[in-house]
Amino acid sequence: MKVLKSEEKKTSFILDANGAIVQNVENFYRFCAERKLMGVKCRSCGSVTSPPRPFCPKCLATVLEWTELKGQGELLTFTVIHFPPSQFQALAPYPVGIVKMYEGPHLPGIIKNVKSEDLKIGMRLQVDFESAIPKEWPRWPRYFFKSAV
Ligand SMILES: [Zn+2]
Repeated sequence: MKVLKSEEKKTSFILDANGAIVQNVENFYRFCAERKLMGVKCRSCGSVTSPPRPFCPKCLATVLEWTELKGQGELLTFTVIHFPPSQFQALAPYPVGIVKMYEGPHLPGIIKNVKSEDLKIGMRLQVDFESAIPKEWPRWPRYFFKSAV
């Protein structure tokens, strides 16, 4: 497997035999390191999936291309985590939501800088990115949601 250095921030991406950036979760997080929320767009039906999958969940086509999302959406549902996995223990309790992104995908994520009691279904949220590198896979910065202003 070859690895390409991006021009912008020297992020390495996993490439296929043709030199294209492989559409997988690992590369999705590598894009997060460049503060880009990426998905894949189906060339057959146009639906957008994020994080990327090897096929379109709507029409099952396998020809997809990378597309950058605006990072904004509406809160569909949320829950508050009181007993998190060990790496998130310092954050608890914290809300996790599923956000319907402007482009269509439903993206799960931690919600920061909004108190649990202030969360409302349908409220607008936007993606932001951590700068810290986690100790566990994938060892790339994570995205999270915050209140859209
Ligand atoms: Zn499709």
